[in-house]
Amino acid sequence: MTAKIIDGKEIAQAVRKGIAEEVGKLRAKNIIPGLAVVLVGDNQASRTYVTNKQKACRELGMHSVLIEYPASLSQAKLIKKINELNEDNTIHGILVQLPLPEHIAETEIIEAISPDKDVDGFHPINIGRMMTGQDAFLPCTPHGILEMLHHIGCDLEGKHAVVVGRSNIVGKPAGQLFLNENATVTYCHSRTKDLASYTRQADILVVAVGKRDMITREHVKEGAVVIDVGMNRNDEGKLCGDVSFQEVQETASYITPVPGGVGPMTITMLMKNTLKSAQNVHHASLTTSNS
Ligand code: NAP
Repeated sequence: MTAKIIDGKEIAQAVRKGIAEEVGKLRAKNIIPGLAVVLVGDNQASRTYVTNKQKACRELGMHSVLIEYPASLSQAKLIKKINELNEDNTIHGILVQLPLPEHIAETEIIEAISPDKDVDGFHPINIGRMMTGQDAFLPCTPHGILEMLHHIGCDLEGKHAVVVGRSNIVGKPAGQLFLNENATVTYCHSRTKDLASYTRQADILVVAVGKRDMITREHVKEGAVVIDVGMNRNDEGKLCGDVSFQEVQETASYITPVPGGVGPMTITMLMKNTLKSAQNVHHASLTTSNS
């Protein structure tokens, strides 16, 4: 069996087309979805992510603002800025690019963002809503993975989804979203013994670790859907995932490449959340004016 490649760029493009149409409808009502991105320090990878997010905003007709600070910024000043953005009616989404300098507590920053503008979906209120199956801003990478699975017609109900990695931004919420869709979920992590004995049971295998070639042919059941979230560099300095693509492609039914798989979906879901926030504000204003 040779797996079909799940083309994240193509799926992202299709989703973005729909987003651009919805942005157009809001703009016709004088509402321009706005995203504020806050960058603290000069981490090169963070700067690239931020630039890509701004570019995506522009392409979709959204308003974007970049607020930059030196790494020496105090936590109090950052929270003051977030409070201003929480009150700013032109801003529907606030994203503080992680990681932050060590003297700033990430959890306090995430909790300072209004849950109604938390387009990263990291605020405990949104995580709680997601866990209890309520309407929420979903974290972008797991949401993008779900969108890809829907796109290939993968129904999660009754399937065994195995998630390798349990970070708060990828692994944990990915498993929760699969559970919400009636999959049976197993989480694996660095203390899991005999990893392959779990991954080989997976109908859907999601790998979000950050170690290249950690998933090989022996880890994958014939016909499994394999989603590779990892972003690593190979010996030639090229981007690669956590899965040995060539050999796993011979066993899986579907597989995501790196680059061109999960990555393009993550930014797209951020755009979708920003649009959703602007739509929420618009609906709330209609409800108020009708009452
Ligand atoms: P993270 O916070 O470092 O978490 C890594 C997870 O992998 C942890 O839960 C860790 O377990 C687990 N792990 C480490 N070694 C393992 C092993 N030998 N066997 C099984 N599990 C092991 O990373 P993250 O933020 O979730 O990101 C994971 C990868 O995805 C990274 O390469 C990152 O760059 C990439 N990523 C890509 C996107 C995208 O849009 N494409 C978005 C986000 C992240 P413990 O919890 O026990 O330590």
